Amino acid sequence: MNVFNYFQPTDIRFGCGRVKEAGEIVASLGKRCLLITVEPFPALEGVFEKIKKSLADAGVEVEHFTGVVPNPTTDSITAGAEMAKKHNADVVLGVGGGSSMDSAKAIAVEATHEGTSWDYLFYKTPPTEKTLPIVAVSTTSGTGSQVTQVAVVTNPKERDKSAIYNSIVYPKISIIDPELMLSVPEHITASTGWDVFCHAFETYIHANASPYTDLISKEAIRLAVETLPLLLKDLSNIDLRTKMAWADTLAGLSIANAGVTLPHGMGMAISGMYPHIAHGESLAMVYPACTRFTWKSAIPQYAYAARSMDPALKDLSDKEAAEKSCETIDAFLKKIGMWICLKDKDMPEDEITALAKQCMVLPDYKNTPRVAAEKEMLEIVKQSYSR
Ligand code: NAD
Repeated sequence: MNVFNYFQPTDIRFGCGRVKEAGEIVASLGKRCLLITVEPFPALEGVFEKIKKSLADAGVEVEHFTGVVPNPTTDSITAGAEMAKKHNADVVLGVGGGSSMDSAKAIAVEATHEGTSWDYLFYKTPPTEKTLPIVAVSTTSGTGSQVTQVAVVTNPKERDKSAIYNSIVYPKISIIDPELMLSVPEHITASTGWDVFCHAFETYIHANASPYTDLISKEAIRLAVETLPLLLKDLSNIDLRTKMAWADTLAGLSIANAGVTLPHGMGMAISGMYPHIAHGESLAMVYPACTRFTWKSAIPQYAYAARSMDPALKDLSDKEAAEKSCETIDAFLKKIGMWICLKDKDMPEDEITALAKQCMVLPDYKNTPRVAAEKEMLEIVKQSYSR
């Protein structure tokens, strides 16, 4: 058994109906809260109001920042941080998908430190204990952000997407209430659900994987693969929503203790240059090329993923199952309606070389069992551009 650490400080409150505990949970950490969400819209407005009432009932003074944008930008974080300072907030509460939870984390840093969130990226200055305590309520399944030390931020001026990565931004407490996910529309269910598989699978093949993360990432792969296609045919099924929420949380626990690999490094570069491309979409675009590049270097893991997706492969050897894994993963992407490429989302063809360069900026691409050289990365981007 290899040497490893496992760390998870977030207090997880999982289960249907638990959003009603939000007020009491926030009150245990502070008295002046900044609630951080997207602009209210019918699917989530009622949830935001319920949470505000729960906060008021618990004696918490709340201001509501509604400026979260998908792929949160440095400017939106700054607007939230200004509001947190004005309100003298002593706790932040992010309610929504990864964009809202990550915004809450980045606002908690920027409101308490000099400069902007961009100054506290993983390779710059580490944020300190001054960071406001963070509570997260997830409404997608998902990014796993409710249990990670990561806040992903996009800088539109630099066309770059990067992350604050520090234990200080782990949410202190997270509520994962599957009832909140019942309203997620089909395409977002598919793209966020695909992200769950990617987190779990990339942890499973990661250089830092351990027996602990293997345990949870394998279970997350199994659950996500079994549940997502069923859920897409039955979006209001609470049992299936609950299973996906659990798979999402397990996958988040996995990435927090190992990390992501080549597809995520590329996905970050894609949404950094083209912020209209959702995170899960960016991953779906590059997976077919990434699996073909990598599978021979991670035979048992590719065999496991393939068998999870196609039980007909269960009697094959690892090598035989892994040989079929690329087509099996392609078929799964088609089944969940995520068979897309960069061209479909209007990426300019003349930026292929620039994108390939950008894909080698974050270290994620190096944590994979086979590391792409510049020429190989260019080929992977070309294959992801159209097919
Ligand atoms: P998102 O938060 O951007 O949400 C996508 C859309 O779904 C939004 O329009 C949102 O309003 C809507 N939505 C959310 N919940 C809903 C609900 N219950 N009903 C109806 N609509 C709902 O998407 P996401 O995929 O959850 O998050 C993506 C962001 O998270 C990206 O910036 C990505 O890079 C980041 N991310 C972070 C981590 C981490 O560990 N911190 C991990 C992976 C990805």
